[in-house]
Amino acid sequence: MTTVQFTCSDCAQTIEVNDEMRETILAAGCPVCTTDAGEDDFTAE
Ligand SMILES: [Zn+2]
Repeated sequence: MTTVQFTCSDCAQTIEVNDEMRETILAAGCPVCTTDAGEDDFTAE
């Protein structure tokens, strides 16, 4: 399981996520503000 950092391009919230969370965020958007998220918003540790 890979851990990556998600940084929202809109609200700037940074969250550590696993693969499952990453897929969820790509599908549903930022967990905080629901802004659409893209591959560029994730940074590998
Ligand atoms: Zn956000």
